[in-house]
Amino acid sequence: MKISRSCNPKQYKAYTNRNIQEISQFKSLSEDVLSAIRVVSRVLPFRANNYVIDELIDWNNIPDDPIFQLVFPQPGMLEPADFEAVRQQVDQKASDHVIGQVVTGIQDKMNPHPAGQMQMNVPVQKGKPLSGMQHKYNETVLFFPTQGQTCHAYCTYCFRWAQFVGHEDLKFASKNVDELMRYLDSHPQVTDVLITGGDPLIMSSKILRRFVEPLIQNKPGNIRTIRFGTKVPAYWPYRFLTDRDSDDLIRLFDEVIDSDLHLAIMAHFSHYRELQTDAVASAMKRITETGAMIRCQAPLIRHINDDPHVWATMWNYQVNYGATPYYMFVERDTGPKNYFSVPLAEAYDIFTNAYSRVSGLCRTVRGPSMSATPGKIQVEGISEIAGEKVFVLKFIQGRDPSWVNKIFYAHYDEKARWITELKPAFGESSFFYEDRLNEIRKGK
Ligand code: SF4
Repeated sequence: MKISRSCNPKQYKAYTNRNIQEISQFKSLSEDVLSAIRVVSRVLPFRANNYVIDELIDWNNIPDDPIFQLVFPQPGMLEPADFEAVRQQVDQKASDHVIGQVVTGIQDKMNPHPAGQMQMNVPVQKGKPLSGMQHKYNETVLFFPTQGQTCHAYCTYCFRWAQFVGHEDLKFASKNVDELMRYLDSHPQVTDVLITGGDPLIMSSKILRRFVEPLIQNKPGNIRTIRFGTKVPAYWPYRFLTDRDSDDLIRLFDEVIDSDLHLAIMAHFSHYRELQTDAVASAMKRITETGAMIRCQAPLIRHINDDPHVWATMWNYQVNYGATPYYMFVERDTGPKNYFSVPLAEAYDIFTNAYSRVSGLCRTVRGPSMSATPGKIQVEGISEIAGEKVFVLKFIQGRDPSWVNKIFYAHYDEKARWITELKPAFGESSFFYEDRLNEIRKGK
C-alpha cells in the first residue's frame, strides 16, 4: 500500500438538516432522498462535513454507498408508522413544538440508554450521582466532557444518539475534572480513564488540555492509561494535520507519553474506505509517531459493513498503519436497530469468514461482542452439545469480575440479535449470572 505523507489543508464545513439543501446543489440527491433525510433527521441526529462528502462517499452509488448509509439518515431507520407521522407534520409545516411532541414520543420508544447505562453505570460519590461519568468495569472509568458531546459527522447507527438530540436529561456530560480526580483518588482499582463522547477530539486542544493536564500532572489514584474514544481519524483527519491547533494536539499527546502514561486512541472505523485517503494515512502516521497506540473498533452494521471482505480489508489497512484491530461489536439494542442490526448467527459467520482471511497480526481483534447490561459477551462459537445446537458465549468483561473469561451456553436461535433474545441451553431456567446481576441492579 502506498501511503502519502502529506496533504493540503482543508477548511471545515458542516452540514445538518438546516443546510442539507446546499449538498443537493453540488451532489445528486433526488427529492425523495432529500425528503426522507428531512423527516428522519427530526428524530435522529444528522451531521456531515465536506471531507466525508467530498472524499469518502461514492456519489455514483446512492443510496447504497456504505458511507452514505453511515452518515445520511435512511427512511428504513424509522418504523413505517412513525416515519409517516413525522412526514405529515413536516409536510404540513407544523411548528417545531408540534413536531417535537411527535418526535419525543418516537425517541422514547428507542431505548435511548441501552445496557443499563443510566441506571447502573453512573457512579455515586458521597451520595451524589456523577452524571458525566460511567463506571461499569472495575479498571475503567468513562468521562464525558461537556464540550466533547458532538462529532464531526454522526453515524446513523450511533448508540450514543441520545447525546445529540437536545434532551438534557438524556445526556452524560461533565465540566468538572476535579470530580473525576477525586473519584480516581478514591477508587484505586481504576487504571484507565476513557475520555469519550460524542467525540472528545472535536474539542480544541486548549479545552482538551484542561481535562488531560490534571491527569498527567497529578496521576490520581492508580491511573496508568488515558484513552480517547474517537472517530476523528475517520471523519476529519485534518484535525491531526493542518487544523489551526493540530500541532498543539500532537504536543499534548507527546506530553501524555512523556509523563509515562499509556495513551490509547480507541479509533472507530466502520469501513475500509475510511482508511484509504491520503489524509487518513498521514493522520495515522502522525498519531503513532507520538508513541500513542491506535486500537480500532466498530460495530457490524447491515447496509454498511455486513461483508467479511470489508472487515478483512479494514483490518489489513489498520495493521499496515501500525494500528491494532480490537473489536467487532454487535449493533446495540437502541435507536434504529431494526434497520441496522445483524443476527448473532450471521455476525458470527461474517466474523469467522473475515478472521480466516487475514494474517495472525490482524487476529488481535475480538468479536462479535455485545456490550450488554451484564458485560461484554462474545459469540465464541456455534456448536452441537448433547444433541442441542447452541451458541457458545464468553464474557470478555463483566460487571462482576468473576464472570470474565467464563464460557456459557444459549439455545441456538437463528434470528436472535441480542443476549436478551436468547434462552439458556440444556433446559436451564436462567443464565448463571442473572441472580448476581439482579443483586447489582438493587445496589447490593
Ligand atoms: S462517532 Fe461515535 S458517538 Fe459520534 S456519531 Fe459515531 S458512533 Fe456516535
